[in-house]
This record gives sequence, C-alpha cells and structure tokens, in this order.
Amino acid sequence: MAFKDECGVFGIFGNPEAANLTYLGLYALQHRGQESAGIASADGEKLRVSRAMGQVADAFNEQTLQTLPGHIAIGHTRYSTAGESKIENAQPFLIDCAHGQIAVAHNGNLVNALELRDELVRNGSIFQTGSDTEVILHLYARSKAASVEEALTESIAQIRGAYSLAILTKNRLIAARDPHGFRPLALGRLGDAWIVCSETCALDLIGAQYVRDIEPGEVLVISDGGLRSIKPFPPQPLAHCVFEHVYFARPDSYVFGRSVNEVRSDLGRILAREAPAGADVVVPIPDSGVCAAIGFAEESGLPMKMGLIRNHYVGRTFIQPQQSIRHFNVRVKLNPVRSILEGKRVILLDDSIVRGTTSRKIVKMVKAAGAREVHLRISCPPTVSPCFYGVDTPSRSELIAATHTIDEIRKYVEADSLAYLSLDGLRQAVGSQQTSYCTSCYTGVYPVAFPRNEHAYLQLALKNVD
Ligand code: SF4
Repeated sequence: MAFKDECGVFGIFGNPEAANLTYLGLYALQHRGQESAGIASADGEKLRVSRAMGQVADAFNEQTLQTLPGHIAIGHTRYSTAGESKIENAQPFLIDCAHGQIAVAHNGNLVNALELRDELVRNGSIFQTGSDTEVILHLYARSKAASVEEALTESIAQIRGAYSLAILTKNRLIAARDPHGFRPLALGRLGDAWIVCSETCALDLIGAQYVRDIEPGEVLVISDGGLRSIKPFPPQPLAHCVFEHVYFARPDSYVFGRSVNEVRSDLGRILAREAPAGADVVVPIPDSGVCAAIGFAEESGLPMKMGLIRNHYVGRTFIQPQQSIRHFNVRVKLNPVRSILEGKRVILLDDSIVRGTTSRKIVKMVKAAGAREVHLRISCPPTVSPCFYGVDTPSRSELIAATHTIDEIRKYVEADSLAYLSLDGLRQAVGSQQTSYCTSCYTGVYPVAFPRNEHAYLQLALKNVD
C-alpha cells in the first residue's frame, strides 16, 4: 500500500493540562500523518504555538509542552496533501489580526484554495505557506464581520472541498466539518472538558468518552458558556470518504458511526464470497490487510496466518546498503515466514494496489519463500482515479488500474489469480445508502467539482511542490 495518510486533528477545552492531553491525542492519531506535528494552546488571554518536523514523540518534550500553558489547546499531525513538507507548512497556523489571535488545524483539502488564494493575493494578502489551510485565515482576517464567530462562519462559507477543522481563539475551541462530511471528526468528554478529534482512538488513549460526531456542515463553538451548535450552510449530499474505512483509520476507531474493524472484516467476508480461491492459508499484508484477512478467513473457513512480518522500526534516516540486495526496499519492511508459506497455496490479502510495483515485489517474495500458488485478493475495488479531498494519491497515469485490465495487472504482479472487491461489495460493507459515501477513487465520479487546469490538478491530486 503506497497511499500516504492525510492529517489528524485534536482539540480540547476545559482542562488545565490541555497541551499534555493534546500531545497524547496526537500520539493516538500519529498514523494519519508523520511529517510534522504541532500544538497551540490558549489560557484565556494569549495563544502560543509549538510546531516541529517529524513524529509527535520527536516534536515535543516536557520542556516544549511547558511553553504551552492554558486550558484550551488544539493539535495537528500532518502528512502534506497540499504544500511542501517543511516547517512553514506545519500546523496549527497561528495569526493575530483585527479579530484577535486565532489558530487553526485542518484535515482535508480545499478544492477552491488556488482560486481563493489568487484573489486574496490580488487584493494584497501575503501568504507565508504553500498550504490550502492558510486561505481560511486570510479570509478570516479580511472579514468585516462584527464577531469572531461571524467572521469565521463567513470565511468557512467561502471554502469548498473537504475540511474537518479544530480552531482555537483565546477563550474558545471551535470545531467545523464540511457539509459533505468527507473527513471524520468526533466529539468527546473527559470530566468537564470537551474534546474534538479525527478518530475515536484518541479519546480512548486519554480515557475520554465518545459523545457524538460533529455533524457535516456543523460549526460547534465550545466556550465557558457551554456548547453552541450552528448549521450555517445549506445541506449538501453526504460524501464520507470510504477510504477511511478501507485503509486510513485505525481499526479500533469508530468513524462515520461504524467500527472500522467491523467494516474492514466485512470487506474481507464479502470478498471471500465474491472471489473465493482454492488455497491452504490466508496471509494478510500487514498491518492494513489484517482485519480484512480475518474476515476472509472466517468466511472461507481457511486458517489465517501471519506469513509476512512487518518491521515497525524503519525510520526515515535509514541507511541503504551499498551492495544490491534482492527486494531490499520491501524486505526491510516485510519479511516472509518460510514455515508458513512453503509448499502452500496462499491467499495474499491487501487493501489496495496503487502502482503495482510493491505488490509485484511482495508476490515474488512470497513465492521465493516457497509458496506454491499466490492468489492476490484486494479488499476494495480497483483504484482508478486520484483523490482531490485530502488523500495523497498518485496521478491517474501512475495508477495501474486506471490503465490496465485486471488480467494485465495479474500478469504484472505475477500472481496466480487476482480479484478485487466489487463496488457493491464495498458499499454493502460500509452499510451505506448509495449516496452517503465518496467512492470517487474507484469511480472517477467526483461529488465536489475541482479545477481542471493541469497546475491546479497537480496541486490537488499530488503532494505539491511550490
Ligand atoms: S476520492 Fe477516495 S480517498 Fe478521496 S475522499 Fe473520495 S473515497 Fe476518499
């Protein structure tokens, strides 16, 4: 699986250890982005921020957390879907303007950010970052609205696309979710404190209770006066990102009202019914293929075994060997277990094929470890189109399923058979009304229009290099 995660956001109101709890919340959301992490806090008077490149545990220590006093905080863990991987683009962004200080953390991608940015620049705005999120702050700073909430609502009304936002002012935590509900955003409670977070696994880590999801199109203002929910925008068709269930979210989270683990196991179960294979063992490609493999094994009556072991400790600064070692890049992350694979007909279960190069190496590695046959099963439909709503997908020309038939892909990856889950099967597993999920990367039909010119397309569909 070569998709990159997107971002995780966290916010807390009403706890004297707000920054420390945000740190822990981000730790639980680390899988959503590993390039940078940041926390902004407020003590009723002043906002402060600390941001750094790298993972949460590297970005913060006790000293840095002590520089973030206050009972309100927001945090962000980032993988860059728009904007280069550099510290300027690390969030939360903090600005001071006519409405006072404000900090914002964003998960998603705005499809009209370039358009808005061009207009803002023409009107004198000076941008500091390559991020689409900065547009929200410029709109806010320029708003003539009388109150913070009105200025914010006016700004959010102008953006289109995917956004789950955690926003901090000196005395408020504000959560907002786009009217389509692309990205998840949960509301939780820890004693008297309120929490918002991308996934419920962040609530579990700090011992908080899940209350409900922030609704699509909802702006929730949390202050000393309690919670105030506004629905300032006209309702839109729902478009929850189905890929959160297929791959992004942690299996111990609930997103869009469903247990990720249950959905993922159902993907495997339905796939086993749709595309059985004569085999001896089901082997997941860890970690993301595990839940679907459990479902596949349960449905097919075959044993599931960990025939591939993942090394979790491959860091960024990893030194490549001088001499060539076969399948090194894959082998350093995954190693086959010969005693499980030797002489066996193996169903290899993964959650997607992107370019096909990694799948090909894994199939070869499994065969080299003695597997007699390898039947590759993918727990979602073929990925044929890029994402414009916050997931870093390769361009269409790089997606093998966009340009090859399933049999051509099978031959390329050198599997004995290959089958994907059907779109109907996917929808059945998430339990969706036909319209409540975005499935654009499998259909090429997009719920929210995006700019068609090539530059804009590349900026939205690929990790951007300004
Ligand atoms: S295009 Fe795919 S990855 Fe992007 S929001 Fe839609 S379902 Fe999710």
